[in-house]
Amino acid sequence: MTPVNSAIRSSRLTHDPGSGWQGPPGTFDLLEMANLQLLEVCERMNLSQDSFNMLRRFERVFAVTIPIRMDNGHIEIFDGYRVLHNTLRGPGKGGIRYSPDVNVNEVSALAMWMTWKCAVVDIPFGGAKGGVRCDPKKMSRNEIEQLTRRFTFEISPVIGPTQDIPAPDMNTNEQVMAWMMDTYSMGAGRTVLGVVTGKPLTLGGSQGRRQATARGCLFVAAEAMEKLGIKTRGASIVIQGFGNVGMHAALLAASEYGMKVIGIGDYRESLYNAKGIDVERLAVHAAEHGTIAGFAGAEIITADQLLALECDVLLPAATAEQITRMNAPAVRAKIVCEGANGPTTPEADKILADRGILVLPDILANAGGVTVSYFEWVQDLQSFFWSEEHINAQLKTIMTKAFRRVWDLAQKEKCDMRTAAMLLGVKTIATASELRGLYP
Ligand code: NAD
Repeated sequence: MTPVNSAIRSSRLTHDPGSGWQGPPGTFDLLEMANLQLLEVCERMNLSQDSFNMLRRFERVFAVTIPIRMDNGHIEIFDGYRVLHNTLRGPGKGGIRYSPDVNVNEVSALAMWMTWKCAVVDIPFGGAKGGVRCDPKKMSRNEIEQLTRRFTFEISPVIGPTQDIPAPDMNTNEQVMAWMMDTYSMGAGRTVLGVVTGKPLTLGGSQGRRQATARGCLFVAAEAMEKLGIKTRGASIVIQGFGNVGMHAALLAASEYGMKVIGIGDYRESLYNAKGIDVERLAVHAAEHGTIAGFAGAEIITADQLLALECDVLLPAATAEQITRMNAPAVRAKIVCEGANGPTTPEADKILADRGILVLPDILANAGGVTVSYFEWVQDLQSFFWSEEHINAQLKTIMTKAFRRVWDLAQKEKCDMRTAAMLLGVKTIATASELRGLYP
């Protein structure tokens, strides 16, 4: 067996090695970041070069162009992707995001993280992800519907309930999932509920899916607080992002855990209130205005100040690479619970670890979303629906078990929680690969 060769570090680990990353200081090409994380655990596990090569490659990278007639009559052409990383343990699963930053490397990194995430919580899915490069904030509802329908039509040969099952992610929601399900079903000639998850309740959606990612984050954050001897009631939490994950995390933290939400930020503004922000009122404000900006019950701070607030839990729930080597030295949280995917760069990870800050990695912390998506898919396939209590109890069982497995492994291996979660995820896939063998 040839062990994985560390010299590979000096080569660029992206689809397009010639491109060269030109992002802001301290940031990475996301695929390079995902590959570096994989490389580190493969080295630690003494995995062979062959295994590393198999694990870092993608089963399918599907790129489409999406021409849409805009409301003003002109035709605009968008780029869309659906990437399948690995389906050794089941069909592909992963969200669809609409954002001006979407590119094939980003979607691929997110697909790879989905593979490890599904393995960490032990659900029978592989990793996938999709996205369209567009700015939904500048598009009308009609344009977003046209975009969604044409994108779904273009990727319909590669998605399906037993093949690859999309879900919502940044800037997509239940309505977008309903349009995707409808478009796919029209092509199939019958209603196919299980083709996407995160749908509205009246269309085969699941109880508890809307809050699932946030609820899962709080389950693992509460476990971590217990380990560190921090009482949840009255503990302070700062949340970056006030969308699906961030808003529900704020509401649940306050209502179910008695935590004090002292800071919240979105793409427009960051807010601080040492006594705790009234998150119910903030949610009403955000629903009315599309942003938290302009809310009266807190003082305005900068985005950098938000991430540097002293608190028990910092929950990034916005986008990738928010905690970098530039601002990690300023973080004053005891626990960083990654609601977003990839919010911490590998360099920042090391800085936070050296400073004794406990990072609950994305592939564990935000796995509540895909877990309840799994429940939704199972319910759709059997056409029998569960109660919210049952869903939340099952989610708690899965998240708590995953937390404890990762925590115990981190203690045993004397490593941080991300390394432990990656070890668990990668080992599960490597074992599956060995058992299945190579076809033909
Ligand atoms: P969303 O579109 O509903 O909300 C995103 C929020 O982040 C918005 O409030 C937006 O204003 C804010 N934001 C965006 N860029 C920002 C920036 N640079 N600084 C500060 N705020 C910014 O998206 P979401 O579904 O809540 O997803 C958020 C993150 O969680 C993403 O990384 C996503 O991949 C991850 N995630 C989501 C789910 C899910 O079930 N929705 C599951 C797992 C992981």
